[in-house]
Amino acid sequence: MAAMTREETEALIQEVLEIYPEKAKKDRAKHLAVNDQGLEKSSKCITSNRKSLPGVMTIRGCAYAGSRGVVWGPVKDMIHISHGPVGCGQYSRAGRRNYYIGTTGINTFVTMDFTSDFQEKDIVFGGDKKLAKLIGEIETLFPLNKGITVQSECPIGLIGDDIEAVSKKAAKEIGKDVVPIRCEGFRGVSQSLGHHIANDSIRDWVLGKRDGDDSFETTPYDVAVIGDYNIGGDAWSSRTLLEEMGLRVVAQWSGDGTLSEMELTPKVKLNLVHCYRSINYITRHMEEKYGIPWIEYNFFGPTKIAESLRTIAAQFDDKIKEGAERVIERYKADYEAVIAKYRPRLEGKKVMLFVGGLRPRHTIGAYEDLGMEVIGTGYEFGHNDDYDRTLKEMGNATLLYDDVTSYEFEEFVKKMKPDLIGSGIKEKYVFQKMGIPFRQMHSWDYSGPYHGYDGFAIFARDMDMTLNNPCWKQIQAPWKKPAANAEDAQRAAGGL
Ligand code: SF4
Repeated sequence: MAAMTREETEALIQEVLEIYPEKAKKDRAKHLAVNDQGLEKSSKCITSNRKSLPGVMTIRGCAYAGSRGVVWGPVKDMIHISHGPVGCGQYSRAGRRNYYIGTTGINTFVTMDFTSDFQEKDIVFGGDKKLAKLIGEIETLFPLNKGITVQSECPIGLIGDDIEAVSKKAAKEIGKDVVPIRCEGFRGVSQSLGHHIANDSIRDWVLGKRDGDDSFETTPYDVAVIGDYNIGGDAWSSRTLLEEMGLRVVAQWSGDGTLSEMELTPKVKLNLVHCYRSINYITRHMEEKYGIPWIEYNFFGPTKIAESLRTIAAQFDDKIKEGAERVIERYKADYEAVIAKYRPRLEGKKVMLFVGGLRPRHTIGAYEDLGMEVIGTGYEFGHNDDYDRTLKEMGNATLLYDDVTSYEFEEFVKKMKPDLIGSGIKEKYVFQKMGIPFRQMHSWDYSGPYHGYDGFAIFARDMDMTLNNPCWKQIQAPWKKPAANAEDAQRAAGGL
């Protein structure tokens, strides 16, 4: 469909809100907005980071997911205990595709699930003794671990276990870090508070360990990659570019990262922030305590990659500035070939996104490099500083939706008719059954990396493969098929 005017987008929002009772309508109206590039502050048009309304089917996760699943989980040489009943850990195990190098179960543990497997008696009598025993067992069975984190699930906060005391005692006994984290799922309004809690625990239990220790040899070109979780190898394809331009990556947080890299981070000259939402708290802390500046970068698509490489290089001397130009030039023929191949197949296609941390804004440039247009975007757990950064990336009069409900998302899609949707696993099959091309943009739908020039080639191939797949013309939504017989008709009507 042709680009919508501001009036048309406003009317669409009103139409979709119409079904809600008055109170819900008033609340949800604050989370839906027409983009205005002229605004400096998104708080003038959209509200975010508020509790979801019961009954509206939010797509969010919990604080435990933010800490265990996002920030801490990828630290590969530590063992992360999912402390509580077995389900939280088991159902979130290995789903994010944080790639790492190492031998699983020997010196790396990312895809394993360690759980205290709470039973009824643990809820009644407390689980502190069980936690202490588990830490001892871990030490016996996996002695090459470099440390342990205790990731609290909901019941731990409810029964008031003293995981801090157990962790302190265990740390002394095993001579390693044991980090207690109060990331019970019920805290806050989404996984976002879990990110913050995880950042605070790193500040309190990890950073500062090497303060006053000058044995690590530094260079003027030391940087840390912060907030790249190496989904499908993303951090590797980013790190390559930084190293090729002459920087030394001392630490990678936290995809394929280690405890010792985290401890060394206060020695770097610059923190490079990829996922601002999940990790800005710790870079602000390092700025205050150690005077380390930080900048954000975006390695999706050649336009944003070149912009980011130059912004990063501007913080250093001519050697690095020349290095950035050399890298851009070196990959030019490759990314131009990708654009020449895929742009004619994707030109003019419309995309709607609804994802987490940074992707609702960071991937826009990559779509635009391929001639596509993002007509609607929104964050699961964004704050207004995320929307501030989104206003200028999105076109005027495009649609913004915060913590969009299942109903709203479906209705917007039916009316705006995008050619492609990028969102999560919970949305994937609904839209695919509607016959709409869909990419799972949290873990790249089993593909990736999407960062860097290498990643752009894969991104372009995947979007083409999905969008131009002939299967979509063969699909008819089950609820639109004529009932084969009377029984089917009755079942479809809810009578069986
Ligand atoms: S909300 Fe609580 S019970 Fe549910 S997954 Fe999160 S920590 Fe586990």
